Amino acid sequence: MIVVGLTGGIGAGKSTVSTMLADRGAVIVDADQIARDLQAPGAPLLGEMAARFGGQIINDDGSLDRAAVASIVFSDEDALKDLNGIVHPAMQSEIQRQIDEHRGTDRVVVLDFPLLGENPRRGLAATIVVDIPYDLAVQRVVEFRGMDEVDARNRINSQISREQRLERATHVIDNSRGVDELEQRVDELWAELLELPHTGPETEHDSAN
Ligand code: ATP
Repeated sequence: MIVVGLTGGIGAGKSTVSTMLADRGAVIVDADQIARDLQAPGAPLLGEMAARFGGQIINDDGSLDRAAVASIVFSDEDALKDLNGIVHPAMQSEIQRQIDEHRGTDRVVVLDFPLLGENPRRGLAATIVVDIPYDLAVQRVVEFRGMDEVDARNRINSQISREQRLERATHVIDNSRGVDELEQRVDELWAELLELPHTGPETEHDSAN
């Protein structure tokens, strides 16, 4: 298997590129989906979180009260560290489990991870960054997500900068033009990915996190 990472700022077009890569045969490991599944009602992780932060972080229907967790960790560094200490290892081991399912195959496995820039990962044959200028990201988030412009800017500003993310890229996908151009760029990218070295046993479980 060939394991690559895919990231990009909010509204850059990661999900769109991820779908295009899946159409070309990639296996997608979706970090956001994994995070949602791990924190679904009844998941063991919620019990661990409640043990640390109190039962008030669980809604009556068993779901996680994300706003309650956010307000606890917002002003308390130790709480944030503990939260990461609970969520992060569970995320990493589920990501690794899903990647390992394809070990020994010829598949291209794409780890779709919005926070890959913040959490670089070893053992990736490539780090693909979907890139658009700041103002275009704001415009797309406002237009397609219905977000207020100030909220969109705040969300984007809370992430690492475009420049920091690009520093870690081995492959950059410029998504500032239309979807047809993006399809063409993804065709080129796909051909490049197929030429990458396969992930060998030496990189097994070799994660920076
Ligand atoms: P988020 O981090 O917010 O989940 P994302 O990086 O996954 O965003 P997408 O959901 O793929 O981004 O794209 C954001 C919006 O922009 C979507 O509504 C998508 O349809 C649209 N979009 C993506 N690429 C283009 C493009 N080249 N031209 C026009 N619209 C686009």
